[in-house]
Amino acid sequence: MDVAGRIPRLAARFTELGCDGLLVTNLTNVRYLTGFTGSAGLLLVLPDDALLVSDGRYRDQAVAEVAAAEVPVRIEIGQPAGQSAAIEQAAKGLCRLGLEADDISWGDQLRLAAALAPGTNLVAVPRAVETLRAIKDEGELARIEGAADIADVAFAQVKELLSEAPTEEEFAIALDFEMRRRGAEGVAFESIVASGPNGALPHARPSTRRIDPGELVVVDFGAIVDGYRSDMTRTVSVGAPRPDELRELLEAVLVAQRAGIRAVRAGVTGGAVDAACRESLASAGLEEAFLHGTGHGVGLEVHEAPSVSQDSTDILEEGAVVTVEPGAYLYSTGGARIEDTLVVTATGVRLLTKSTKDYVL
Ligand code: ZN
Ligand code: ZN
Repeated sequence: MDVAGRIPRLAARFTELGCDGLLVTNLTNVRYLTGFTGSAGLLLVLPDDALLVSDGRYRDQAVAEVAAAEVPVRIEIGQPAGQSAAIEQAAKGLCRLGLEADDISWGDQLRLAAALAPGTNLVAVPRAVETLRAIKDEGELARIEGAADIADVAFAQVKELLSEAPTEEEFAIALDFEMRRRGAEGVAFESIVASGPNGALPHARPSTRRIDPGELVVVDFGAIVDGYRSDMTRTVSVGAPRPDELRELLEAVLVAQRAGIRAVRAGVTGGAVDAACRESLASAGLEEAFLHGTGHGVGLEVHEAPSVSQDSTDILEEGAVVTVEPGAYLYSTGGARIEDTLVVTATGVRLLTKSTKDYVL
């Protein structure tokens, strides 16, 4: 993973971003640029210099992580007032200091504006680091694929449990445990296990409801490897799904997901991929049943750039990792969603999640 190349790539865009320096407040972005994984810190990136400030809890960790990532950044550890003073000192003489527009609070912006030397103007910079993060290098791809592999194997391992009529919670715990046991450092997000009518809620939380044979079960989950996440959904049933209406719903979602994956290649917009899924579901009379966007980028966060939703103008570039996850939801009856995490390549895609889509267990 080339962490050291990231700050220079960011600084090279300052003119285009309309700033002479950027104060990075989003901790995921700080991690991406420096390797530092602490829960508090600020990173000031200047054209030829970078300063990371944090508190005493991270005195040794910050030095070790930045050194391991081989990032030439100065580190200042201290109380909040000392950290602010170090930032203000380093930012002296800047004409336009960029702030991460999607991250910083109004209060922090006002405090900074009052503290900075006269002549330094604050400018709102949207998605500067997020845009860099959207394109993954080989090391990042290997980590996301590692997370996806763990999730695949864990699901294959535990899915026969479904035939023992577990509760949604019991199945979610078994799946999470298996991912951890197989090397995941955590789950990518709270696993979704939604059976029967609960499947009609796209973001249902696992409940104490028992999963019966013939019910569609939506299972949406992922693992974390070295900070990088995977995201996959499978909809399955023990024996043939009943009633037939739900089997047809799931078949339509599978067709739509294939259409979505076929639409992905370098240079298309996220909106075009969404449209492919939406048209496919509309042709099955399910347009109104598709309640969310088609997908999202995945990396250090489970939802990041680029967007693959309706009307998204984000261009899917080679090396971007996105999900394609159409679903259809019938209130009080049930629902289905199928999701893969994939890499955009010059000619199409490479799937990172590989679990079978055969849905009858
Ligand atoms: Zn998901
Ligand atoms: Zn997703």
